[in-house]
Amino acid sequence: MAGPCAVESRELLFAAADAVAGAGAGLLRGGAFKPRTSPKSFQGLGSEGLSLLAQASQRTGLPVVTEVMDTRDVPLVAEHAAVLQVGSRNMQNFPLLREVGRQSKPVLLKRGAAATIEELLLAAEYILQEGNPNVILCERGVRGFDPSTRYVLDLAAIPVLRERSPLPVIVDPSHGTGHARYVPSMARAAMVAGADGLLIEVHANPALAKCDGHQALTPEIFAKLMVNLHELAPLCGRVICSVAAADSARATRSPRTNGNPAGSFPAGILPAGSLPAGNLPAGNLPAGNLPAGNLPAGSQDRLDAGQAPRPNSFDDEVIAP
Ligand code: PEP
Ligand code: MN
Repeated sequence: MAGPCAVESRELLFAAADAVAGAGAGLLRGGAFKPRTSPKSFQGLGSEGLSLLAQASQRTGLPVVTEVMDTRDVPLVAEHAAVLQVGSRNMQNFPLLREVGRQSKPVLLKRGAAATIEELLLAAEYILQEGNPNVILCERGVRGFDPSTRYVLDLAAIPVLRERSPLPVIVDPSHGTGHARYVPSMARAAMVAGADGLLIEVHANPALAKCDGHQALTPEIFAKLMVNLHELAPLCGRVICSVAAADSARATRSPRTNGNPAGSFPAGILPAGSLPAGNLPAGNLPAGNLPAGNLPAGSQDRLDAGQAPRPNSFDDEVIAP
């Protein structure tokens, strides 16, 4: 999932959307309703932003994920978006959680900056309890004491969440670090640690961004990162796939936990071996869906720990950018 922090104009959104689609992203992100620390900061274009997102989606074919902050806006956002984002500041906005829980669209739930993993899981429970089984958990960093990075990206949350919950887990290294130059390494680390997807801010011209420009990748860096992730994927027994491939695979194989209905998530979360032949995006996918423990000669050296991956930490699964 990639795109600008905020929808700012048609021109900038379309440029970012074209770029992330061209680089192989599975979903387009962009905020129309922005939770800003200062009320004087740019607050987003609201419903106009939603309509630009819908146009960008039509133009690129990418489904859209966008934030909803207010229970009153949920129906409108659900009309325009494929995935409803509940931001970290609203992780414990219980009426909002209940409201998105009553929608048929999947919900991307971001961890609060001071929330424990248990609190994140309990927040997800509010959505599930209303009947919406399609919740995607997102680690986006927690508050630390060191200003070197914007937040402390808790990559250990990935295996913990995967152990405790059947829900897919994605990572947002953009907010997690706050600096574009740290995003690629944390994106790679998240994939190796078992994330089911990534949420990455990309801006056509980060210097012009009204929001979070310093952490936005340029289209060029994002494209390089995507190539990099495709190269890395087979080393940890994973496959990066398109939304269409993930949907198709889900229809034929049950997900990691058997707990979620097939076809319900917009991003790839399935075991690599379950991708039907012919459904992988053309071109740049790594050859072969290598199972963990079956790495090509020499690749082991490239793993940080210098050890062969263990089956429980490198499940054969799909990662959706
Ligand atoms: C965002 O995704 O743009 C955002 C505001 O994220 P968070 O809620 O994690 O701060
Ligand atoms: Mn942002």
